[in-house]
Amino acid sequence: MTEPGRSRGELGTGRVLVLGGTAEARRLAARLVAEGVDVLSSLAGRVADPVLPAGEVRIGGFGGAAGLAAALDGVAALVDATHPFAATMTAHAAEAAAATGTPVLRLQRPGWTARPGDDWRWVDTLEQAAAAVAGCRSVFLTTGRQGLAAFAGLTAHCVVRSVDPPGPPLPAQATVVLARGPFTVEDERALMTAHGVDVLVTKDSGGPMTAAKLTAARQLGVPVVLVRRPPLPAGVPVVATVEEAAAWLRGRLGGTTMPPATPCPR
Ligand code: NAP
Repeated sequence: MTEPGRSRGELGTGRVLVLGGTAEARRLAARLVAEGVDVLSSLAGRVADPVLPAGEVRIGGFGGAAGLAAALDGVAALVDATHPFAATMTAHAAEAAAATGTPVLRLQRPGWTARPGDDWRWVDTLEQAAAAVAGCRSVFLTTGRQGLAAFAGLTAHCVVRSVDPPGPPLPAQATVVLARGPFTVEDERALMTAHGVDVLVTKDSGGPMTAAKLTAARQLGVPVVLVRRPPLPAGVPVVATVEEAAAWLRGRLGGTTMPPATPCPR
């Protein structure tokens, strides 16, 4: 319950809730912990053996926007640092923050941009991506475990890469590669060459952790089908870097997030 006379999300209370599941969320949590900020990171619990952020962590859904709103009691600021394609959680964050008056920030890494030599085809959905590669021989699917059903009707050989084993339905001819990034360009080239990949499918996740496949595709002359990001909710400020998120929090927490103390140079 909120104390009488104190609104939820009152600046200066201190606790920051970070909705995570991304490298940026982990880096933000590490930075806040180092600065002495009271931070709670939240993970969905999708991955069996997640890389845990520094500091306090909770795992599992909140029970919709209303459940998240209840969890914001006593939270001074909410940072939605979920993956660019975690659209439901991002919508819930905006809704719960608005309902409780909690300051909210979206931390989202920039999407990828094509470079000379890239052959990229943009689509809006996984279903459109599946249609775009229907005539290919060997498809490298890097869109994650969830949403693989969209590709279940493909007759092509599909190299399916995910962190945890994917469940059915899978494409009829699937080779599952279990791996967690970051990946090197050399490894991506070797994988794509070994399987004779003639098209790569990816979401526009952005960031360096999984970008090597795009470089490998360019070097091998393999076209890439990219799924566009879902739109962001209106009215929520967006930053692209952990540093910008820390600066925003500094303004919300009354200057408690300062750069970590450095030793005296003498
Ligand atoms: P989603 O579809 O947007 O969210 C579905 C439900 O999962 C939410 O309504 C919420 O359940 C729960 N949830 C999602 N993120 C949560 C979090 N950080 N903490 C607590 N509950 C969370 O999300 P998703 O695309 O399945 O992604 C799930 C997680 O994996 C996110 O943390 C995301 O950052 C990470 N991730 C996603 C992708 C991707 O491609 N989508 C890639 C890499 C990592 P309730 O309604 O019960 O609260």
